[in-house]
Amino acid sequence: MKCSLRKLSRKVNIETFCEKIINDKKIIVLTALCLLLITYSNRIYDERRYYEVYINDRFITYTNNKKEIKKEYKEVLSYLKSKYEEADIDKTTLVFKNIWNKEFQLSKDIEVKENILKSLQGSVKAKKLILGDRTIGYVSSDKEKNQVFEALASAYIKDNGISKDEIKKVDVSGNIKLEDETINISKIEPIEIIASNIYNENKKSTNPLIKIDIVVKNTVKEEIPPSTKIVSTKDLYWGESNTVQGKAGTKEVLRDLTYENGTVISEQRISEKVITKATDSIIYKGAKDPISSGVAFLDPPSRGGITSSYGARWGSKHHGIDIAGNTGDPIEAAFDGTVANTGYNSIYGNMIVIDHGKGVETVYGHCSKILVSAGEKIKKGELIGRIGTTGRSTGPHLHFELRVNGEAINPIKYVK
Ligand SMILES: [Zn+2]
Repeated sequence: MKCSLRKLSRKVNIETFCEKIINDKKIIVLTALCLLLITYSNRIYDERRYYEVYINDRFITYTNNKKEIKKEYKEVLSYLKSKYEEADIDKTTLVFKNIWNKEFQLSKDIEVKENILKSLQGSVKAKKLILGDRTIGYVSSDKEKNQVFEALASAYIKDNGISKDEIKKVDVSGNIKLEDETINISKIEPIEIIASNIYNENKKSTNPLIKIDIVVKNTVKEEIPPSTKIVSTKDLYWGESNTVQGKAGTKEVLRDLTYENGTVISEQRISEKVITKATDSIIYKGAKDPISSGVAFLDPPSRGGITSSYGARWGSKHHGIDIAGNTGDPIEAAFDGTVANTGYNSIYGNMIVIDHGKGVETVYGHCSKILVSAGEKIKKGELIGRIGTTGRSTGPHLHFELRVNGEAINPIKYVK
């Protein structure tokens, strides 16, 4: 009995102990759950929370990221301390004001930094950057002045879509001066802002504050136009021609382009590489003699009908054909050639002789007007004179002759 009692009490003890553990566990789980809920809701709350940020009562930006603004603020302060000797900055703190309205745009990093700089109080020993006679901003050192020009060059590089590995060199020229000056911190601007001020001034003025010359190595594809070859052929009659069009080729041209403030001012060609060759255009020119073949190759020199043919006439020989017309009617060249001579002859009156080469000439007589002069190149069908009745003539008409090696032959079968 004794023994069983002890057993019982031990049993009860174990049960209480177990219950205690279970209860403790409940508390732990509950606490953990509560903590989780608080963290989670805080996170949701934080993500929805927006602030207005102030320094020295001056508005800096809107934000939903306190950490980020604090980081940027620290960056600005350490920038000032590292870049400027004798930096004397008042201790200021960032002020965050809760807001619920989200009707605003978050500022860019560069704007935030600029606003932080403008709101800080204190002074630094800076260098005034003067271009020509204009103060354009303040920098901490000669090195930072160069960084301004680098930022300016980058803007031109971006504008012109120049890729970094194409750049051969960048030259900066202008009347640039740096002068020591102790200034209020609020006068300091980020490098990018100073560069963009110069960029805008340069754009406005025909006489830019500064010149940035960028030499770029660049390749461009160009067309190679086909050249023309003249080939004589017996397949065509004299005066006839046939052109077979060639094809343009392509080449790659390596060149140096110089951009001055974003505009190309010079191009220097370095080398060329042919990618596809051009094929020549060929003009086939007829070489078959139309006279010995009896082929009509002359255009009619005027529009009238034939009133007198070649050959025997009134006991003598008529060396050409007469074509009817009124005074002033046009006379046109029968074939391509060069005006051999013009002038007055007692029989032919005002006359024109055209040399067609290969010993062939055409003669136009009794003209009222001569519109060409010796040596002039003439195309078939071109106006050369006007019909008249000068010389030995009984009325207005055109006397037309065809001469081969100085001998007049009957032109009739050679006129189309
Ligand atoms: Zn005649």
